[in-house]
Amino acid sequence: MYLEKLRIDGRVAVVTGAGQGIGAACARALGEAGAIVIVTDLMPDRVEKSVADLKAQGLLAHGYVLDVTKSGDVDRVAAEIEKKHGPVGILVNNAGIARSNVKAEDTSDDHWRAHMDINLDAVFWCCRTFGKQMLATGKGAIVNIGSISGFISNKPQPQAFYNASKAAVHHLTKSLAAEWAMRGVRVNAVAPSYIETPLTAFGMRENPEMYAVWREMTPMGRVGQPEEIASVVHFLSTDAASFMTGSVVLVDGGYCSW
Ligand code: NAD
Repeated sequence: MYLEKLRIDGRVAVVTGAGQGIGAACARALGEAGAIVIVTDLMPDRVEKSVADLKAQGLLAHGYVLDVTKSGDVDRVAAEIEKKHGPVGILVNNAGIARSNVKAEDTSDDHWRAHMDINLDAVFWCCRTFGKQMLATGKGAIVNIGSISGFISNKPQPQAFYNASKAAVHHLTKSLAAEWAMRGVRVNAVAPSYIETPLTAFGMRENPEMYAVWREMTPMGRVGQPEEIASVVHFLSTDAASFMTGSVVLVDGGYCSW
């Protein structure tokens, strides 16, 4: 009874930014649970590789190149997906950037805007467009990837633009959850701490002192792996989380406990 609820056979699951890192792991987790996975990413080569990897595992996967900051493209690709595969039942808003270690006083307009465009605006474009398909069928689950940075200010690197964008994602999650709860669509978020992906290479690989601070500030004394986020995203996407909406689930090795 319980394990069955973790299956999502035949559901159409869209993951944004699924070409690498956390998104690629989420695609794999949802595929293993039976979903028809729709890999989307800005970079065509990453889409191709991610789809090929999933297919090599015997999973059902299709790829679409999509820049989620372009709301017109989101609408167009969403319509194509619905026509080909049926209405989307699961959406993981994962695409995001963190061009960190820039002081607030040195942050340019373009730098600020880029983070808001991808990390916040695009999450709303995707929720709005794919959410309509879910509302039309009266069921769906959205998982937004937030961050501990939506709760705390990171140390030692300054990144006010990123922190503000992720705090907004958390509140957008709660707002949409409340608005759509009675119409069958659940909206939750996962808030990771540092995870080993290309995004964190600036600390893990290029700045040993920064990396040491990240580990010191984490009760578990280590960074996380993409699979450790994907398994929680998987859970939130399934009927096992049927009474969860508006939650922002920390997956942080205890980071926010200190
Ligand atoms: P990553 O840089 O490894 O991968 C991000 C993917 O998103 C890339 O494949 C990239 O091509 C794609 N992308 C970027 N801009 C896009 C756009 N406009 N449209 C479509 N795709 C786009 O990053 P990651 O570490 O896997 O992070 C994924 C998400 O998790 C992000 O939202 C990030 O903020 C969040 N997060 C990451 C960490 C971490 O430590 N890695 C911690 C907390 C939250």
